[in-house]
Amino acid sequence: MFRVPETHPRYKSLMKREKLVAGIEAGITSKQGLIAHGRGEAFDYLIGERTLSAAMKATEAAAALLLTAKKPVISVNGNVAALVPEKVIELSELLDAPLEVNIFYWTEERVRKIKEHLERHGAAHVLGDKADARIPGIEHARARVDREGIYSADVVLVPLEDGDRCEALIKMGKKVIAIDLNPLSRTSKYATVSIVDDLERAMANLISVIKEKKKGNGKGLLVEDFDNKENLEAVIKEMVKRLEEEELGEL
Ligand code: ATP
Ligand code: MG
Repeated sequence: MFRVPETHPRYKSLMKREKLVAGIEAGITSKQGLIAHGRGEAFDYLIGERTLSAAMKATEAAAALLLTAKKPVISVNGNVAALVPEKVIELSELLDAPLEVNIFYWTEERVRKIKEHLERHGAAHVLGDKADARIPGIEHARARVDREGIYSADVVLVPLEDGDRCEALIKMGKKVIAIDLNPLSRTSKYATVSIVDDLERAMANLISVIKEKKKGNGKGLLVEDFDNKENLEAVIKEMVKRLEEEELGEL
């Protein structure tokens, strides 16, 4: 991996790119995943690469939803596996929820490589290679899921999901938590709870909120009190406010 100097002003962002390039080289990330990441980066710039207060509120709601779920499942695609393997595993252990490899550009080989990659990082329970059930309303290859995983889950965390599949999961009666930097994406609009934040920051926040809630601390936000549309509007307001306050100044 290319060594990014820690003093570089864009260190964190460059490191993410390096992880994704390594993911491509290891056969776990798709080329299209790079384009999707670029779209995310643009939105991250607009929010100043920090967690907005509305995103933190969505994270609280997501934590409450995951902790009260009967059968939560965490979906992992090629970008998630390359960027935050340790964090999805930690979350899976905290919630006693399986990870399921769930990729848009499906090949048996890539599913196997992602599963092995997660297992090398210590994951004990990775689904997705059976692909013995289908999400109704989605065309063939992209509809594949595991019967004992996403297919029968009541709450699914889909960090970076495609809009169509998010809609189809909702139609199946599931509660869907999305992490997506684009508040205007179809995914963000369809999800039950959309966390508009960078994947790494959102996962770190989600883990710490869940740890606090498990200790009996936290805000006690009820999922019923959370309105996703209202929250997305709050995100857009925060984004606009930030842009209005932005002064270009001298470099
Ligand atoms: P729609 O949801 O409108 O159907 P899409 O899902 O087809 O759009 P893609 O570009 O395929 O659009 O999806 C990638 C989404 O993931 C983008 O909205 C992008 O903002 C988001 N994204 C990519 N990388 C990250 C990241 N590291 N953290 C958070 N969000 C990200
Ligand atoms: Mg999307």
